[in-house]
Amino acid sequence: MSRVPLRRALSDLPPYVPGGRAPVGAAAFKLSSNENPYPPLPSVMAAIADAAVDVNRYPDMYATELTEAIATRLGVAPEAVVAGCGSVAVLGHVLATVCEAGDEVVFPWRSFEAYPIAVSLAGAVGVRVPVADDGRLDLPALAAAVTPRTRVVLVCTPNNPTGPAVHADELDAFLDAVPSDVLVVLDEAYVEFVRDPQAPDGLAVFAAHPNVVLVRTFSKAYGLAGLRVGYAVARPRLAAGIRAASTPFGVSHVAQLAGVASLRAHDELMVRVEAIVGERARMLIGLRAQGWTVPDSQANFVWLPLGERSAAFADQCARAGVIVRPFAGDGVRISVGEPEATDLLLEFTATTTPR
Ligand SMILES: *Cc1c(COP(=O)(O)O)cnc(C)c1O
Repeated sequence: MSRVPLRRALSDLPPYVPGGRAPVGAAAFKLSSNENPYPPLPSVMAAIADAAVDVNRYPDMYATELTEAIATRLGVAPEAVVAGCGSVAVLGHVLATVCEAGDEVVFPWRSFEAYPIAVSLAGAVGVRVPVADDGRLDLPALAAAVTPRTRVVLVCTPNNPTGPAVHADELDAFLDAVPSDVLVVLDEAYVEFVRDPQAPDGLAVFAAHPNVVLVRTFSKAYGLAGLRVGYAVARPRLAAGIRAASTPFGVSHVAQLAGVASLRAHDELMVRVEAIVGERARMLIGLRAQGWTVPDSQANFVWLPLGERSAAFADQCARAGVIVRPFAGDGVRISVGEPEATDLLLEFTATTTPR
């Protein structure tokens, strides 16, 4: 019997491995998915409850109020903002907007595991450029990997899972080296956590370079991972293309109102972000004092480059009550959560041979 053939791209697709979850009933800190440890603010909960009564209706297809609120906060035109159901979806729509079959998309590796999947599904060819040993993106190498076939370069800053942010001067040099008809996507999922004074101002970079698009999300600093809402900031022509490529009604009414309420509560939420940044410092200092090698982190996670030890470390850590995210053969990513989770993690790592 003959079967429906599947696209060849699918057979090569690396699986997206979600961060581990605690077994039902088990007490464990989930530091495996870079989630915000804090529950929604009361004002955001109220917006979610209010929105729930309207879910028999389709949402506002263009997420007008949310788009305007984002634009106001960022100081850009509403036409520049395109919301989608998570920035992973937005990235897919960006690629669908500019990639023809067989075009090349250059991205760092190891980086966000959604990249190779999104690139293949767009029908493009991924070109991976190794991240340096200190966890920093190698921007000169990313620029050197651009060929006449290259349509897009993905720049993840801070880089998930290794942690460092790119620096403004090296990004400027990179953008000078990349042809102006190659789209540069700055994935700023963790931008609110960046404290490195040398990090670029993404919005200024966007303003200065017509071939730059920003991708941001409400999933991390804003704590709305479960509602799936992210956005791109793009020039009007590209923004219109991304809108055309987007899933209609992709951002639910609940997500739209929660996003608006979160922007209203911005200052309150940034107090929480500051607490996570403080906890990140405590985790980094604690681990390094124990002898662990940890790259700088400008995000809400830290990276232990444990190589072949990664899976075993993650298993033992879970038994100690902390669920972390191993990348087999490469390293372990540990999200920054509650202070109690940091305490428990540092207790565990103190009893383990560092590297
Ligand atoms: C978490 C993350 C995202 C955000 O994903 P959402 O789909 O918005 O939840 C995007 N890029 C990177 C690098 C991430 O780590």
